[in-house]
Amino acid sequence: MAGKLMLEVVTPDGSVVSDEAQIVVAPGAYGEFGVLPGHTTFLTTLKIGMLRYNDQGGNERLVFVNGGFAEVMLNKVTVLAESADRRRDIDVERAKAALKRAQERLPEGARREDVDFRRAQVALQRALARVRIAETK
Ligand code: ATP
Repeated sequence: MAGKLMLEVVTPDGSVVSDEAQIVVAPGAYGEFGVLPGHTTFLTTLKIGMLRYNDQGGNERLVFVNGGFAEVMLNKVTVLAESADRRRDIDVERAKAALKRAQERLPEGARREDVDFRRAQVALQRALARVRIAETK
């Protein structure tokens, strides 16, 4: 069953992507997964990372996603994330500053259950993913 595939990426601030896609590849919690038109229905959690899709013109589009959920149903991929940025909207200097801050906050020998350590780790993951996506040619 082919047909069109729609991609919607939504955050609490509003819609980040609403586009027709040929294929969507997303960072699932259990590994990257690809969705083509006609894909079976499923729901998964996402990792912090890069979502990519090919638009109807065949151009590859990169999007940062801050975890969340992806639902695939009736030729539509819906991503609900705490934050998300299209590659062109990523401010690399801001992401590099966030990376530096997070690195400075990772205290030496911190215990794994330390809340600030965990927050710094997650901030580091977000910043690294944004820098990587922004710098992908
Ligand atoms: P920062 O510490 O720079 O705020 P963060 O990882 O804590 O980064 P988020 O909580 O993921 O930021 O996002 C908060 C808002 O800021 C979202 O609207 C997100 O799109 C935006 N944002 C965060 N970092 C960037 C960036 N480098 N470029 C563009 N927008 C960004």
